[in-house]
Amino acid sequence: DFRRSASRNPEAPAVYYFTTVLSYRVIDESSDALAAALQDFGLQKGDRIIVDLQNVPQFLIATYAAWKLGVIVVPVNPMYKEQELSYFCIDSGAKLFLVLDEIADALDLSFLDKTAVEKLVTTSALDFLAPDEERPDMLQGTSKIPIKGALDLLTLIEDYKGKSVEGPYLSPDDVAYLTYTSGTTGPPKGAMNTHGNIAFNARVYEAMQRISKDDVVLGMAPLFHVTGEVAHLAIAALAGLPLILYYRFDAGETIRLIERWRATVTVASITAYIAVMNHPDIRSRDLSSFIKAYSGGAPVSEALVGQFEDLTGLYIYNVYGMTETNSPSHIVPWGKRAPVDPESGALSVGVPVPNCVMRIVDLEEGSTDLDPGEVGEIVDSGPIVIPGYWRKPEETEHAIRDGWLYTGDVGKMDADGWFYLVDRKKDMIVASGYKVWPRDVEDVIYQHPAVKETAVVGVPDPYRGETVKAFVALKEGMEGSITPAEIISFCKSRMA
Ligand code: AMP
Repeated sequence: DFRRSASRNPEAPAVYYFTTVLSYRVIDESSDALAAALQDFGLQKGDRIIVDLQNVPQFLIATYAAWKLGVIVVPVNPMYKEQELSYFCIDSGAKLFLVLDEIADALDLSFLDKTAVEKLVTTSALDFLAPDEERPDMLQGTSKIPIKGALDLLTLIEDYKGKSVEGPYLSPDDVAYLTYTSGTTGPPKGAMNTHGNIAFNARVYEAMQRISKDDVVLGMAPLFHVTGEVAHLAIAALAGLPLILYYRFDAGETIRLIERWRATVTVASITAYIAVMNHPDIRSRDLSSFIKAYSGGAPVSEALVGQFEDLTGLYIYNVYGMTETNSPSHIVPWGKRAPVDPESGALSVGVPVPNCVMRIVDLEEGSTDLDPGEVGEIVDSGPIVIPGYWRKPEETEHAIRDGWLYTGDVGKMDADGWFYLVDRKKDMIVASGYKVWPRDVEDVIYQHPAVKETAVVGVPDPYRGETVKAFVALKEGMEGSITPAEIISFCKSRMA
């Protein structure tokens, strides 16, 4: 899709990075050059590279470079620390690690020695900002930092300028991304998002959001999450649209750039919408272009949708999905309003996306179909579902049975086919749309020498939806010696 859009209209804008414009030609040629460099490094179809970036143009360049070679992209959250990154490097077997210089600078990179990573490549958030552009507030303190032992991305692109690769044939079954998620249980696993999955779900958004050539995509969600991968990057590539990127979410910058570029469409977490709603500029800026606002990844209440609409005139559409369904499995169709379940008060997450079948099955065995109105586990099938988890056959078998993905989400369908989520079977906390597994947090807290026992739970939070709370018991004789703040800072240094 990207190649077709780039050849059709090479001078069209592909990225608005703050107020810098990068054309499809620039992204295409830069990714050609990077693909040639990757090939020279010995990377070939099926190999993996880690991409540890904020929402910067290099994310697109690296992704398209990798795909031109048939290489799999492993995007990771830039908040991850050494312990987490080491796990993703080892589990994916990645050979190259691409990271923002400021992230690399803050890490002890010696963990890479125990992985298969052979090349470290760094890049700066300033690299693709036009030299005459006024520095955005968010990048005021940023400077390009040389990292020992690392290659510089921009230099590589310069060195290989004009070169390209003879790419291998890619089928819809070839893997595009390994997106790490803990799914419904256990340790993080690489969901194998195939090219077929991503291309299909980009078409789902195109149809359900009524995407046209006049749309401008706002990159409000992180690109490393499946929402950004599909609802930002893939939909822009499919329809040849510009994608607005601004490093990381910030309410003021969001409002400024909607007005500046006449953004029309996005998918983001409800927490981000709350931040936008509470920003003082919301009343003074012209946001009239922005008509397709979708919220996914976390529960949305009817009250919040109402408040947002009262303030902005904008109706927030609900969309539901998982990393394993490549973003949307259910969505509120453009022009429709989600009904509210009279029993639970839950706002509908939408109707199943085209060409897929979703069922509600009994919670115990997961084998009996329930009637409309009855509560059970949601199971999904169709071209949205991943083939499985990277090198985890048992986990795959547990999650996907006979082609049916067991979501771990508990809900029901009404007589008209609208779905509602009412509970979760999986032990997961949804904080600002980010998924936190209590077990992962407990594992880190147990590394503290003073801790005897801990239990981590989700508690309600008006802004983040839910947030993480840990109950900690200290070892005999240690009582009073450690403060909660010390445990929290211990955790902060060890996890995202
Ligand atoms: P992730 O893999 O990070 O996309 O997380 C997927 C999970 O987020 C789903 O299984 C749901 O539990 C939750 N989720 C996603 N979208 C919604 C939504 N619109 N409303 C409520 N929960 C959601």
